[in-house]
Amino acid sequence: MRRIIIGSGVAGLSAVEAIRSVDRGVEIIMLGDDPHGYYSRPGLAYFLTGELHDKALFPKTREDYSRLNFSYKKTRVKGIDRKNKAVILGDGSPLTYDKLLLATGALSVPMTVPGANLQGVVKLDHLEDALAILKLAKRGRTAVVTGGGITALELAEGLLARGMKVHYLLRASRYWRGVLDERESRIVEARLQEEGVEIHFRSEVVEIQGRSGRVNGICLLDGRVMKCDLFAYAVGIQPRIDIARNAGLACDRGILVNEYLQTSDPDIYAVGDAAQVYDPLSGRSVLDSLWSPAREQGFAAGLNMTGQVKPYIKTVPFNVTRLAGLTTTIIGAVGHGGDEDVVGIARGDSETWRQLPDAAVAQSGFDVNRVRLVIGEDHLLGAVVMGDQKLSTPLQHMIAEKMNIALIRDRLLMKDARIADVILDYWMRSQAG
Ligand SMILES: Cc1cc2nc3c(=O)[nH]c(=O)nc-3n(C[C@H](O)[C@H](O)[C@H](O)COP(=O)(O)OP(=O)(O)OC[C@H]3O[C@@H](n4cnc5c(N)ncnc54)[C@H](O)[C@@H]3O)c2cc1C
Repeated sequence: MRRIIIGSGVAGLSAVEAIRSVDRGVEIIMLGDDPHGYYSRPGLAYFLTGELHDKALFPKTREDYSRLNFSYKKTRVKGIDRKNKAVILGDGSPLTYDKLLLATGALSVPMTVPGANLQGVVKLDHLEDALAILKLAKRGRTAVVTGGGITALELAEGLLARGMKVHYLLRASRYWRGVLDERESRIVEARLQEEGVEIHFRSEVVEIQGRSGRVNGICLLDGRVMKCDLFAYAVGIQPRIDIARNAGLACDRGILVNEYLQTSDPDIYAVGDAAQVYDPLSGRSVLDSLWSPAREQGFAAGLNMTGQVKPYIKTVPFNVTRLAGLTTTIIGAVGHGGDEDVVGIARGDSETWRQLPDAAVAQSGFDVNRVRLVIGEDHLLGAVVMGDQKLSTPLQHMIAEKMNIALIRDRLLMKDARIADVILDYWMRSQAG
């Protein structure tokens, strides 16, 4: 019996852990094309700024891997021969499987404007990208960054930390419009500007210019030209579904899977950024591009690949991130939908955030300590907590568990409500009782 896992990211590794937790004997082979194997992708942002050493990106030790007892082969899988239950390796040779997992992740949506192939045009998907950026980032030189989600901001801050002059271009009139409200966007923008980033709103790149094969400027839709030595983009991501689609598996924007994470072929599973997962509670198939769901899906699929029957129940999307140095937690449904700067979905993002909930909004705080609640009829639907994080754990539980808030709803919606006090008081009472 052989289990094959394509992808050495968190979803793939989590599946190995799950399989081994119930079956010490079955053969497991992981296939991956990343020269660095498994590492923390969210950590790449901190690696770029210099806050995290490259060794800290690798959380697993040699002993951890040998305990899991699986073989790893570095290869780019070319295809799947479903009839013969085999994957086709990079060298064209087949490798048979009994159960197969596609944990192939996602890649940045490419820039398609003229000049996109010039040296000095960069994105941030892998450790190799971060290493390439560090080679190109020269103190005193100028970088232009475009894109509206977390990764674009991380690129801007990373390049700034490396001593570059940074221009940040947004197609929209404010930062991450699909997820943040206006005040939150403005807080992030003000902090970026204080750090020295120059922000240009309503600015769309139509051409990247170069000399001797290297970037030396960009041209905007309104005709403006900006000189630069490096151009970084993060305008959205696209699930890596090519081998699934070519094998005839059902795909939409991601590889479609049922609640057991099975594709349209019951011996093939898909998880993580590559998968569009059916959520039995909402009846929708959604993309989450978040670390924790990838890990949870990988674990559930791994168990199912051993013969267990383990549905994946989508949890409320939750992400603690840093926006312009400000710790920010985003939970549940908070957004307003479309975002001109992000194509579909961004790194560290969830489609659920972008739902427009039929709800009231309460907010309190000022600038760096701010909480926004999205309030449904009888429970909280979502929250954004910026700065002080003492509310983030209670809110995560209250939202995930759909805790009834009838007793405090009116107080939360009062003008100048002391939201933090009301929530903490209610939470502590519920824990005590
Ligand atoms: C810069 C950055 C910042 C992020 N920040 C956050 C954050 O703050 N919070 C958060 O929750 N999430 C964040 N994310 C997203 C998070 O890292 C992903 O959701 C998560 O890594 C997805 O895991 P995965 O295993 O599905 O895919 P991946 O980690 O992308 O792994 C997929 C692997 O499959 C391999 N592969 C693909 N196709 C093939 C093939 N044909 N043959 C062989 N191998 C193949 C790839 O090389 C890759 O190694 C961030 C991501 C990035 C890049």
